[in-house]
Amino acid sequence: MNKTELRKHIKLLKSQHQATTTADSGIIMQLLADDAHFLAAKTVLLYHSLSDEVNTHQFIEEWCLKKQLLLPVVVGEELELRLFQNMNELKIGSFGIAEPTGPLFTDYAKIDFVAVPGMAFDRNGHRLGRGKGYYDRLLPKLTNAYKAGICFPYQVVDEVPVEPTDITMDGIITI
Ligand code: ADP
Ligand code: MG
Repeated sequence: MNKTELRKHIKLLKSQHQATTTADSGIIMQLLADDAHFLAAKTVLLYHSLSDEVNTHQFIEEWCLKKQLLLPVVVGEELELRLFQNMNELKIGSFGIAEPTGPLFTDYAKIDFVAVPGMAFDRNGHRLGRGKGYYDRLLPKLTNAYKAGICFPYQVVDEVPVEPTDITMDGIITI
């Protein structure tokens, strides 16, 4: 399957697995909370989930008290990072994503861990996004971060087709 076909295939699977999204998200977020790389990290980039992604909302609320938490903000073709300190600082931005309004964060080398959403991942850490390349442009700046793909089990496929600009994950967190 090429990238476009794979995105279509996963979209169908997502629509078939809606009933278990909440329960599965809870299990996956607990696996993240128990992950050694995550636990060791001081500065963490998370994503504020959309309705068809592994739900991170509660996790963000809980962990912003214990770690320096960052969330992305879509600015044109790039993801800008802002500090997240409390839920009141979120406002809806591009693509309907809730984004932080806290201070801008540009000290990319300080980020220890990043949770990366995706449409599909394979066992080699290859990642398929939504097709705009946002994380492929951001992740090379995070020179010291452990990169964890976060997904539902049906999003792990045998092979994700990749191009030279696609950034490989260090691990996948799923059930
Ligand atoms: P996604 O990773 O969101 O699934 P793709 O990997 O298909 O999306 O990439 C989408 C577009 O972004 C492609 O045209 C790709 O060439 C471009 N792109 C990806 N990474 C970079 C980069 N580092 N610099 C410039 N363009 C990039
Ligand atoms: Mg890509």
